[in-house]
Amino acid sequence: MKKLIKNVSVITPEAELKNACIGIDGKYIDYIGTQIPEGYNEIIDGKGAIAMPGFVNSHTHIPMVLFRGYAEDMPLQEWLFTKIFPAEDKLDANMVKWASELAVAEMLASGTTSFSDMYYFCDQIVEAAGRSGIKANISRGVSAFAETDPSKLQSVIETKELFDKYHNSFDGRVKIDLSIHSEYTNNEAICKTMAQLAKERGAVLHIHISETEKEHKECIERHGITPTAFMEKCGCFENPVLGAHCVWLTDEDMEIFLRSGASVAHNPSSNLKLGSGIAPVSEMLARGINVCLGTDGCSSNNNTDMFTELHLASLLAKGSLCDPTAMPASLALKVATLNGAKAQGRDDTGVLEVGKCADIILVGTDKPNMHPVYSLTTAIVQSARAADVRMTMVNGEILYKDGKFTTIDYEKTVCEFEKIVDEIYR
Ligand SMILES: [Zn+2]
Repeated sequence: MKKLIKNVSVITPEAELKNACIGIDGKYIDYIGTQIPEGYNEIIDGKGAIAMPGFVNSHTHIPMVLFRGYAEDMPLQEWLFTKIFPAEDKLDANMVKWASELAVAEMLASGTTSFSDMYYFCDQIVEAAGRSGIKANISRGVSAFAETDPSKLQSVIETKELFDKYHNSFDGRVKIDLSIHSEYTNNEAICKTMAQLAKERGAVLHIHISETEKEHKECIERHGITPTAFMEKCGCFENPVLGAHCVWLTDEDMEIFLRSGASVAHNPSSNLKLGSGIAPVSEMLARGINVCLGTDGCSSNNNTDMFTELHLASLLAKGSLCDPTAMPASLALKVATLNGAKAQGRDDTGVLEVGKCADIILVGTDKPNMHPVYSLTTAIVQSARAADVRMTMVNGEILYKDGKFTTIDYEKTVCEFEKIVDEIYR
């Protein structure tokens, strides 16, 4: 089945096209241009819409949609240890299943085509992502509060099983990353073990790094070095690292990221909401570090809307440097799409180009906030809202269109999800 999106405005890496067409053959884009090519049997009308690559949400804990709005206006450590960890103790596989289903629906409806997750009951997250058609890099968060033999730690055992069972499953849409929750929730032996396991598997290592000043300073008190330097000492940066937050990185830390080709997942909403600070992403980008964008979990955000993150990333860069030329729209969009794909180890997506995967979203320009459109890219970064998303396509398959999901039973999902919420908070 060959699909053609007609009469559409298109953001490509080189140009913004008006009245253009995108041809799709199976999983891949096979035409982008202003002619109308022959030989396509399914026509999608793109009139009044902007086609762009789908967002890559580079840092999430998707089952945490269950805790959306549950713990508010608290410091991170207190929030985590007195509210979130006890609530998470109540979770079971069925709860994670339906929470993941709801979160994937939320992501598809707001234009996300791929996400990088760290959580537990990961089989359920993998299955929800796999069934839905979205792309995902999923990792089992590893943390150990007591001195434990790493090989006997349940989360390490589960990580290995998850990788063997699911890496590159669902036609390569699902990849398994390895994860170290953070320095402050782990010890050196575990970090070294995870670095070694990632090396043996050629896997991405997803780690929370220097999210708060407290975490950053306490690591220096404990080990005499920063969280980044500590992870480097453990061998982590011999792997492709995805460092979440990185608000408090030093010059030397940024050098480690650059030298090793590691990526930084910037989470503006979460950092603002938890009062963690503002990550110096313009400086990181200027140095050549691969910065991507994420929403973090839904209790520190409270949604998975990448339009908000995109807008905030642009505004924060400008505001924090007192420089309106910082983080121009084209760079912000690249951070939210192509750089995220790179951090996931996916070099066949993240841009609209012939030969790349058809991971495409259509953003409507009919609502009042989208009139007029001078620059497509500026309209996306500064004016568009998640509610403007008309269609989300992954690997050439339409997963969401005009408010309807093609792979998710949304009514059943909401019904099951609300039952679970009652159970948890009763
Ligand atoms: Zn996180």
